Amino acid sequence: MNIFFQSELFVNLSYILASILFIFGLKMLSSPETAQRGNLISALGMLLAIIVTLMSNSIISYQWLSIALIAGALVGASAASFVKMTTMPELVALFNGFGGIASLLVGSAEFLNITSSLSSIALTAVFLTVLIGGVTFSGSLLAFGKLSEIIDGKPFQYIGQRVVLGTFVIFAFIMGIEIVADSGLLGISRFYLLISLIFFALVLGILLTAPIGGADMPVIIALLNSYSGVAAAAAGFVINNNVLIVAGSLVGASGLILTNIMCKAMNRSLMNVLFGGFGAVSSSGANTSGEIQGEVKPINTSDAYLILEAANSVLFVPGYGMAVSQAQHSVRELGELLEENGCEVNYGIHPVAGRMPGHMNVLLAEANVSYDLLVEPDDVNPIMDTVDVCVVIGANDVVNPDARENEGSPIYGMPVIEVDRAKTVFILKRSMASGFAGIDNPLFLKENSRMLFGDAKESISTLVSEFKS
Ligand code: NDP
Repeated sequence: MNIFFQSELFVNLSYILASILFIFGLKMLSSPETAQRGNLISALGMLLAIIVTLMSNSIISYQWLSIALIAGALVGASAASFVKMTTMPELVALFNGFGGIASLLVGSAEFLNITSSLSSIALTAVFLTVLIGGVTFSGSLLAFGKLSEIIDGKPFQYIGQRVVLGTFVIFAFIMGIEIVADSGLLGISRFYLLISLIFFALVLGILLTAPIGGADMPVIIALLNSYSGVAAAAAGFVINNNVLIVAGSLVGASGLILTNIMCKAMNRSLMNVLFGGFGAVSSSGANTSGEIQGEVKPINTSDAYLILEAANSVLFVPGYGMAVSQAQHSVRELGELLEENGCEVNYGIHPVAGRMPGHMNVLLAEANVSYDLLVEPDDVNPIMDTVDVCVVIGANDVVNPDARENEGSPIYGMPVIEVDRAKTVFILKRSMASGFAGIDNPLFLKENSRMLFGDAKESISTLVSEFKS
């Protein structure tokens, strides 16, 4: 019996089961109703993979593994308990970095292990593990620094950027070829070969992340997440561990899909995100001074209340400003009061509203807004003419009509929520300042637009009080 539990057959069957649990868990993460269970199922898969691996004969030191397990569990549990929802991207950046360095260390240890003779396929995997793991580690740390504002979030650009990047890529590949071929042509020992590759990989991670602006970081974090998965999959090939290959590939693929979704929703190519330096200088036609010419029609909360009170349908469109002001609970309260008043209430959610994927979904879920009320641009735009009032809460770029009307605009072609087509639009923000893209928003000057200036939470809370009195 004991022998069966340590047999390759049992280990592989358990790994297959763990992989199935990962796949189902991942699938369930796609909907808020099943996401919690999906997380639990994936964690169960990971627990199974860890237990089965620990039962295997090839474990050298249980003491060291126990120390690592306890330390890792402590860091993971405290991060999950204490980190605020708003700092989630920073945490993800750090975890990606840890994943990258773990793969790098696994690849390095196997390469330097004099007792293991590695095939050229395994050596290629070592090279990829160390290279991608190193890029992920330094890139993620820099992303973490930019997001948490320890480092200036502005894109760092210089002349010859791509040449420098290309040179480092070539050097890294020269090291890789020597690692695989082991020809001795470079005249350096295995150890120094590895150290040089780690150095080039770490510098590459910094060179790739530095030109990206702080606000574009969520896209690069999704990409680095994908890299960490690829590095783990490569490490799986190095140590011949099937579950690591499967789990790494899943992370790699899902990270890449998310990156692609975000780029599409911003109507920008990945190359533009990586090298465009969005936010470094004002884009053409952009307004960075915070002033727009034309007539602005401000409204106060008392008048806004009267219009809302008479409305039959209201669409809330939240954006980054709702996250800043933490207005989600007041918004839910206002929504409920409107519903009690016989009004149909929905929430228009743009995929890149806010600063991280699913930012608005997470905030509204935290405030207990029913998921059924959330609608996507493709669903709401066709019926926008029937909406009585659109309440734009701290959203700017994702409701900019220039995306469809002004070919010269940097965001032209980006799918937006067409709030300007509703009968009346309230825009809740503190000033006429531009949003993340740094461009004018003609929505503020449209005939049917009314600006409700002030902090979003204060404005919504005042409207709630008006309804209650
Ligand atoms: P924007 O950044 O375009 O606009 C946010 C608006 O919120 C500002 O105009 C600001 O105006 C207002 N605001 C800030 N604080 C408050 C407050 N306390 N009360 C009321 N209003 C406030 O946000 P969007 O959500 O519309 O668009 C997101 C942008 O971020 C897009 O350009 C997207 O491409 C980009 N992006 C999103 C990513 C994601 O994963 N979600 C990733 C990378 C980029 P004011 O200062 O006048 O109050």
